[in-house]
Amino acid sequence: MPERRPGFLSRSEMPRPIAATIDLAALAHNLGVARAHAPHAKVFAVIKANAYGHGLMRAAQALRTADGFAVVEFDAALRLREAGFTQRILLLEGFFDAREAAEGAAKKIASVVHHREQIGLLGGLSAAARLDLLLKINSGMNRLGFAAEDARSAHAALQDCAGAGKVTLMTHFANADDARGVAWQMETFERAAAGIAAPRSLANSAATLRYPETHFDWVRPGIMLYGSSPFAEVSAAALGLKPAMTLRSAIIGVCDLKPGDTVGYGGMFCADRPMRIGVVACGYADGYPRHALNGTPVRVGDAMTGTVGRVSMDKLCVDISGLPAAGIGTPVVLWGEGNPVDDVAQAAGTVSYELLCALAARVPVTGRS
Ligand SMILES: *Cc1c(COP(=O)(O)O)cnc(C)c1O
Repeated sequence: MPERRPGFLSRSEMPRPIAATIDLAALAHNLGVARAHAPHAKVFAVIKANAYGHGLMRAAQALRTADGFAVVEFDAALRLREAGFTQRILLLEGFFDAREAAEGAAKKIASVVHHREQIGLLGGLSAAARLDLLLKINSGMNRLGFAAEDARSAHAALQDCAGAGKVTLMTHFANADDARGVAWQMETFERAAAGIAAPRSLANSAATLRYPETHFDWVRPGIMLYGSSPFAEVSAAALGLKPAMTLRSAIIGVCDLKPGDTVGYGGMFCADRPMRIGVVACGYADGYPRHALNGTPVRVGDAMTGTVGRVSMDKLCVDISGLPAAGIGTPVVLWGEGNPVDDVAQAAGTVSYELLCALAARVPVTGRS
């Protein structure tokens, strides 16, 4: 594939200037931040959903010193194993049928077990399989997991499965990133886990960063590895995290506005003074949020400015009135280095997770070491 160079429109080949760059050193650095917070725990690097849009294999390679990888997709688990990764590989939603359980066992894929039917799937495995399992307890998220009062009997049922190997107790937090915190769920988890001698895995990124009492044996950071803060009120930079994905494009058109002129579909923005508008080759078909409001932060050249008007499929507009040097070809950072994805997400009324995961397939992605 020809290398795309965002911001530089060559004459021989004029690719659409949009591209995402993945900073591999930033991924490794952010894993180091997780380790520094939980020095006594092992780390499952959560790389589900194509590593939150960063590319499964690329991220796994950059995060290869992790003690384990956690994914949701069975084919992702197999690809990691086939690529030669030898650490624990965990399926966060477990196996979906007997075929997956058998193939997973053969490839030493570890599995979450969150309901009785999954214990049934394990019953068909041979004693040679010895599958690592994470018994998931519902401590208040009310999504997946056994009720606290069923934890003991589920644990006992797993002990009776010929194919079951090491069992780790697990739960997931609903409010580790906000004021409600984790204490209320910890109480339920402790009640469920009382008397069960097993390692534990509780913490997502927010709990890894904020609640040492949740670390135990395995932490499960996701979003922080990609350089985004799980907390609304604390920036990624303040946590020492570096952005892993930078989405770049360039200005491909310039438009002068008179007072009263509107911009884009629906005329959602109306100029109240003479303005200069840059048209950027990036729209919702690239994964940029259509619901981003006027003023969503965009870096143009070395300056910060904001969006104007509605984001369209292939384009969005930015105010370059105060940037006389900006024009066609000026590089733009939609999010990433110099324009935190968390700020863009907040302006768009969403979270960085959604923006990163939604990076569209048509955007070329390259790793940079
Ligand atoms: C996605 C996920 C994580 C990672 O959460 P972050 O908020 O991205 O750190 C951890 N555990 C489970 C069960 C998950 O589904």
